[in-house]
Amino acid sequence: MTPQAVLREYFGYSSFREGQEALIARILRGGDVLGIMPTGAGKSICYQVPAMLLQGMTVVISPLISLMQDQVTALREAGIPAACLHSNLDQRAYFDTLDAVRAGEVRLLYAAPERLMTDAFLSITEQIAIGMVAVDEAHCLSQWGQDFRPSYLQIADFLLELPRRPVVGAFTATATQAVREDIRRLLHLQDPLEVVTGFDRKNLRWIVERPADNYEALKGVIRRHKGESGIVYCLSRKDTETVCSRLCADGCKAACYHAGLSPEERTNNQEAFLRDEVQIITATNAFGMGIDKSNVSFVVHYNMPKSMEAYYQEAGRAGRDGSPAECVLLYNPRDIRRNAFLIENSETENDRLTPQQRAAVRQKDHERLQSMVQYCALTDCLRHYILGYFGEKSPTHCGNCGCCLAETDVIDATVPAQKILSCVYRAAQRGRNCGTKLLCDILQGKNTKQIREQGYDTLSTYGLLADVSRQQLEHMVSILISRGYLNVDTAGQYQTLSLNVRANPVLRGQETVQMALPQRDLKQTARERRLAEMPDYGVDEGLFQALRRVRERLAAKEYVPAYIIFSDATLRDMCNKRPRDENEMLAISGVGKYKMEKYGAVFLDAIAAFAAANAESPAK
Ligand code: ADP
Ligand code: ZN
Repeated sequence: MTPQAVLREYFGYSSFREGQEALIARILRGGDVLGIMPTGAGKSICYQVPAMLLQGMTVVISPLISLMQDQVTALREAGIPAACLHSNLDQRAYFDTLDAVRAGEVRLLYAAPERLMTDAFLSITEQIAIGMVAVDEAHCLSQWGQDFRPSYLQIADFLLELPRRPVVGAFTATATQAVREDIRRLLHLQDPLEVVTGFDRKNLRWIVERPADNYEALKGVIRRHKGESGIVYCLSRKDTETVCSRLCADGCKAACYHAGLSPEERTNNQEAFLRDEVQIITATNAFGMGIDKSNVSFVVHYNMPKSMEAYYQEAGRAGRDGSPAECVLLYNPRDIRRNAFLIENSETENDRLTPQQRAAVRQKDHERLQSMVQYCALTDCLRHYILGYFGEKSPTHCGNCGCCLAETDVIDATVPAQKILSCVYRAAQRGRNCGTKLLCDILQGKNTKQIREQGYDTLSTYGLLADVSRQQLEHMVSILISRGYLNVDTAGQYQTLSLNVRANPVLRGQETVQMALPQRDLKQTARERRLAEMPDYGVDEGLFQALRRVRERLAAKEYVPAYIIFSDATLRDMCNKRPRDENEMLAISGVGKYKMEKYGAVFLDAIAAFAAANAESPAK
């Protein structure tokens, strides 16, 4: 069989995506690989397809039990013999799996890194050949990444124990050079083929909102996605619960997920979400790594996360199957302090670091937070900023982000910018750094107690921008932050502003500042209408919902996540092509032979029934 045929027959896809083919070809020739692809790009295919073709079994190392189980379920649904070994299996299941492995019945064996050096596991490797070791989420090897797991360091020891060194493939979505080097070094990759695919996720729409009321903003997003699945990330456990109960009270089907719930509650809530029984999950960042649910239509960050890395990973859980999806960040400057506090008080499992190294990591964390704040303050293309952050060049206007879509007027704002910057400078001369709120109060000439008592009304910049609306003024300050003219001190107790050297040419009149400012009278409703125009898949909504119901029924019966039966993208393809027989069904993206046999008939019936019910009645 060719890789192409495996892709077609088992996964039901007609062509490889960027990077997949090259990585697979190299693996099949016996060479190591390092695949760096963003979430949703299709990393798993890169080792799952070769696993069906290589001599010997493939061992996949994966950090989380939920991730393993999900993939194993999906593979079995596709007719591929896969199994996993982890600490949650009862003894019986554990030994049954070992027996199946020894009998050569398993092509892909998923294992947690802690399992590798156990006697039971090592004894397997003496009995059967291992063709490949695939390391998923390989950035967990690196102390500089955000998810360092010491147990990942055992992988190298494990490789040395094997009678013959297998092909080693490492896969991650984290692209920084330091992490890449760590992976190559710590896994002893041998002249690996390194493939880095573009980081852009074209189907994702990026939006930052600065709402007066986060909950109302969230409801707005939900209204745009009737009946579709979404994740709402909050910073604290308490917030996930509050938001969840408000949503439930408002008639949404929501559940919450955080590390404070019992394992049982967590599993139940997660599975209800995976099976589409609840529409929305409110969660802390404990939720997600390992969530492959492909039909997530929106990810809302109720609070600003700690870094662009974390944000891109969490928001990237939207639109995995390639359908249009939305990533909305609700920004409130208060979140800077909350995140700074979390950085200062973080307990990591990273006890291998010296105090100096730990301080360096903390410093790095503050820099990451600073970049996150800049993102939230942006008024020009969000996608361009994201891609630039991850080291990729892109056009300065993407046309599919909140900023590109906003109706703005571009003005020469050099003079107000100078006033703002010099106000920061003057205040600093008095030995004080102010935050955005106080800065705006001074510039607007507000008569507050703080201003009187601290004598800010005697600054030469007091009241200089009294004619600008508060909203416009805050917006301009944001822009100056996002362009790096102003620094936000995230490490201190208050989020104060200070001048960056980049501000000097502006203050000296050597550089002009253009700003795209929101048109004054753009009503919220007009904005919502424009955003609502987005997800038009051009398919019959009635048929799509009918197929979703069929899928939900099957998922409940089989006790698997709904999207593992078929993804939303696959259902939409069915709506478009309306297959009438098995052959036409096999031409649908995501329908392989095995799933055709298992589910094809039910969906063909549903499509036929829908067509019959909606056929125009013949004229009399
Ligand atoms: P990653 O691990 O990179 O985040 P996955 O491997 O989970 O991404 O793949 C994301 C989605 O894309 C899955 O639903 C997968 O089935 C789908 N996919 C992967 N490769 C292809 C392909 N060649 N054609 C169509 N869909 C694909
Ligand atoms: Zn854009």
